[in-house]
Amino acid sequence: MKATEFQRIAVLGAGTMGHGIALVAATAGLEVQLFDIDEASVTRGAARLRSALDEGVARGKLTPEARDAAWSRVVTTTTLAAAVSQADAVIEAVPERMDLKRPLFEAVAQHAPAQALLGTNTSSLSIRAIADAAGARASRVVGLHFFNPPHLVKLLEIVRSEVVAVDAMDDARALGERLGREMIVVSDSPGFATSRLGVVLGLEAMRMVEQGVASARDIDTAMRLGYGHKMGPLEVSDLVGLDVRLAIAEYLHAQLGGEQYRPPEILRRLVNEGALGKKSGQGFHLWSA
Ligand code: NAD
Repeated sequence: MKATEFQRIAVLGAGTMGHGIALVAATAGLEVQLFDIDEASVTRGAARLRSALDEGVARGKLTPEARDAAWSRVVTTTTLAAAVSQADAVIEAVPERMDLKRPLFEAVAQHAPAQALLGTNTSSLSIRAIADAAGARASRVVGLHFFNPPHLVKLLEIVRSEVVAVDAMDDARALGERLGREMIVVSDSPGFATSRLGVVLGLEAMRMVEQGVASARDIDTAMRLGYGHKMGPLEVSDLVGLDVRLAIAEYLHAQLGGEQYRPPEILRRLVNEGALGKKSGQGFHLWSA
């Protein structure tokens, strides 16, 4: 499929990433079906998408007409078949749990058109294991790893499983082009290129806070000013969500075994306390709404 041929996309999960991916697709001119498990979640996702569009207008990045056109292309649903039955591409962005992703891909494979590209936004999990759940459609499944927030961070990490078809990889690149992404292609291995390296930096920074080496603020400032990072590792962790980071760290530690992936106590404690980062208002930093 050529980049310009993509017309309809289904985004599964309307949370932090799902609403952002839907926003990028709608502003790129695609018809979007935004799906979540219940009305409250999908309505919340659509409201976040709408306020990001309004913010785009306020910042002079979008005209009011472009905002209205993008908004008119977004439909919300809690019915999976309705979401995917006409889709040229499906992008899954449900929580980082194999026990959620696999049944979803099994169901998607039953309802999506045979030629649809099936993408997962997983940050770390095996694309092959997710693809296998899609049965006969396994060769159409690719990792499509977007970054937070997708309308500002243009990177798309395309992850190639052992069973992906050449035309599915071509379609993934074409979709990335249509969505204005800068793409990298990575083989299917735990954490791919981005999460594997980024999580290690984040976990080490957490250990340094735990050991009293320096404050979260000073560690982040060190990496921003000293190493030219756009954001410090603890700010990034807060932005991603500490629960998401913990899930990835646990997975990498189980899969790859190195001590560098072991989640520090401070991360477990914050997650247990409900301090999940930006989305809850507090993590390693305080965040205003
Ligand atoms: P989130 O918790 O913010 O959102 C997940 C959404 O999925 C929620 O709205 C939830 O109601 C919905 N959901 C749960 N089960 C579902 C199901 N069976 N069907 C449909 N919807 C369901 O999570 P998130 O941070 O957006 O992460 C989603 C995925 O994106 C994860 O795989 C994560 O690793 C990955 N990711 C996250 C980030 C980040 O910065 N948060 C960045 C890149 C990739």
